[in-house]
Amino acid sequence: MGKYVRLRERLLASGEFGEGDFRIPDAASDAEITRAHCPTYLERVAAGRLDAAEVRAIGFPWSERMVERSRRSSGATLAAAREALSRGWSANLAGGTHHAHRARGEGFCVFNDAAITARAMQVEAGLQRVAVVDCDVHQGNGTASIFAGDDSVFTFSIHGARNFPFAKEKSDLDIELPDGTGDDEYLWHLERGLDETLERSRPQLVIYLAGADPYEDDRLGRLKLTKRGLARRDDLVLGTLHARQIPVAIAMAGGYARDIEDSVEIHANTLLAAQARWGS
Ligand SMILES: [Zn+2]
Repeated sequence: MGKYVRLRERLLASGEFGEGDFRIPDAASDAEITRAHCPTYLERVAAGRLDAAEVRAIGFPWSERMVERSRRSSGATLAAAREALSRGWSANLAGGTHHAHRARGEGFCVFNDAAITARAMQVEAGLQRVAVVDCDVHQGNGTASIFAGDDSVFTFSIHGARNFPFAKEKSDLDIELPDGTGDDEYLWHLERGLDETLERSRPQLVIYLAGADPYEDDRLGRLKLTKRGLARRDDLVLGTLHARQIPVAIAMAGGYARDIEDSVEIHANTLLAAQARWGS
């Protein structure tokens, strides 16, 4: 959790962002959440009525604060999408809770921010085509399952084949990479995956999960990208979207480097790259 505070501090210290660039998001409402999640699941989360196995799958204990944090984290990605539609890009300094399924949480994810956001943008802004570009080292299995069989939201996940989740779902496009995959090989695959995603979905909005966990010194990731490689990844994704004038809402997703400052730096680089492309 400490990485989020440090990220904000680092962005301020960069001189590229000021206090006025940061907003506290509204929590996602029940109506917004239940477009992506089962109403009974939301009720049970809100009331603290998950059973022990469900709480264990999520990975942290239930509390009122945990519910509020999960609502706010989804609300922040939603706010970022609204902002992106008017100025090109915006970001949630947390979020990327892509392991949350329609009726269950998993892997530190309670509600699926990308799914809630895609649904909200369809309703509020009338978007017909949204794409989720998930570059976290773990597969976006919750997002894939929520949008299975739904042509209006395209799900692309590029991840470690042997990373959690071990039973994977089927995204619209999955690229699974072997342990130890480095910068050049990763970027070769990502470029093709991104092209295919944009070709097949022609999105009006992209939700980009810029996970810092494909990093070579990440405790949970099995890939071997350098910081330079991750910056090239961001340049590829953001540069392509900017060139095609596709708005992007960015969520941070995972990052568990042995030295937490490495994860913070990787996340900060993503936001600085976006700021450099679109301006303030
Ligand atoms: Zn991850």
